[in-house]
Amino acid sequence: MLNQLTISELTAKLARREVSARAATQACLDRIQSVDGLIRAFISYDAADALAQAGEADRALAAGQTHAQRPLLGVPLAVKDAIAVKGQPLTCGSRMLEGYISPYDATVIEKLKAAGAVIFGRLNLDEFAMGSSTENSAFQVTRNPWDPSRVPGGSSGGSAAAVAADECIVALGSDTGGSIRQPASFCGCVGLKPSYGRVSRYGLAAYASSLDQIGCLAKDTRDAATVLGVISGPDPRDSTSAPLPVGNYAAGLTGDIKGLKLGLVKEYRVGGLEPAVRQALEAAERQFTRLGAELVEVSLPHTDYAIAAYYIIATAEASANLARFDGIRYGLRVSGSDPTELYCRTRGAGFGPEVKRRIILGTYVLSSGYYDAYYLRAQKVRTLVRQDFQAAFDKVDAILAPTTPTTAFPAGEKTADPLQMYLMDIFTISCNLAGLCGLALPGGFTEGNPRRPVGLQLLGKPFGEETLLRLGHAYEQSTEWHQQKPPLAG
Ligand code: GLN
Repeated sequence: MLNQLTISELTAKLARREVSARAATQACLDRIQSVDGLIRAFISYDAADALAQAGEADRALAAGQTHAQRPLLGVPLAVKDAIAVKGQPLTCGSRMLEGYISPYDATVIEKLKAAGAVIFGRLNLDEFAMGSSTENSAFQVTRNPWDPSRVPGGSSGGSAAAVAADECIVALGSDTGGSIRQPASFCGCVGLKPSYGRVSRYGLAAYASSLDQIGCLAKDTRDAATVLGVISGPDPRDSTSAPLPVGNYAAGLTGDIKGLKLGLVKEYRVGGLEPAVRQALEAAERQFTRLGAELVEVSLPHTDYAIAAYYIIATAEASANLARFDGIRYGLRVSGSDPTELYCRTRGAGFGPEVKRRIILGTYVLSSGYYDAYYLRAQKVRTLVRQDFQAAFDKVDAILAPTTPTTAFPAGEKTADPLQMYLMDIFTISCNLAGLCGLALPGGFTEGNPRRPVGLQLLGKPFGEETLLRLGHAYEQSTEWHQQKPPLAG
């Protein structure tokens, strides 16, 4: 079935004119029809527009355009509903932006269009990307395709579920503290968080601007490398995008990782890991050794402080970023007798409880008298976390770690206790605090029925995506985890 293909498989068939982009897009739409009533990954999609884009791709292929020129020509790609696509809804999973249509394309979308992708569908997320389960969406709860009683992770849960359920070929997500890697691990797909500055954030609704980064959720590492090659690069509209050349990421996937040094973090060897996660990590250590990598112990002494620092910095930035939703400029407006009442009513009605909690937290840590005690101190911890990684990367080429302490948890299990939810981020947030790149990989399954995917992650130096993907690809190709499909009817 065409919707099950990877980018490389589909583009090979398209290039040989064995299949059409229209047929591939129709296969994804049919799959959505049959499974998305259960999975609920898509907030919205426009089938006619998707097929029209696919028709254009078919005409371009007929006119002789190649995938060497346009690497994603005819590939159906779905987008987290926090990234702007001109003429499509942009809800951020929030009542605040219900009905809002984006008037412009994010830079990544411009690049994907130039590369020929069929950009369709808006994928569910935690409201404004705040969460780890997609249960904070104002619209719907997305289900894990491997076990619909469990969450797909978050905040890019719709993206992970859609890729895992073969409702699209590949998807965009964003990662501020794990939002690509954690759902990828919960759903058994590959998730790539690029280094801070690798990809332009222009057109991504801002959550925490010093941490946010756009990346992709894919069926294998080669596809992630292909998408990264398309969306990377400096952008005059995002001054934090790095003026560095874009690598040929797919070409670096040689399978040869002999002599590369892989760090194992002493402080990550904590109790409380679900046995399946620990076993998958140990099996991966053996597998990397077999492939010729050398394992080296490294220490990240400030690990214990990372969650606290993250939830201060991220909420502080969120409180500033979300000030723009005032009922005047765009989105929801609830009128009042004066502007203050209008702001209060609009923000009271438009934001959900988790977003309000974070705005309040963030405003508090920035307020006079508390700024030094919380925000400034968190920034200092952030520097220490970054220095920990710098010291580790003097010794190793990348770090191997769990993505999360557990596999996907049951829906509703952690909604009443935000702190429990925050603690799930222990292995993912340091990567964002330090501006590193991270790659989540399928690493095994739990026992029992239904079985659940177990994820692993590799952490790489800032702008070390080539090495990161090379390592991930070599491991992936020596295992079968990425080829497994959830037992979904339809
Ligand atoms: N779970 C983290 C949070 O809630 C990360 C979210 C993200 O990466 N967008 O902030």
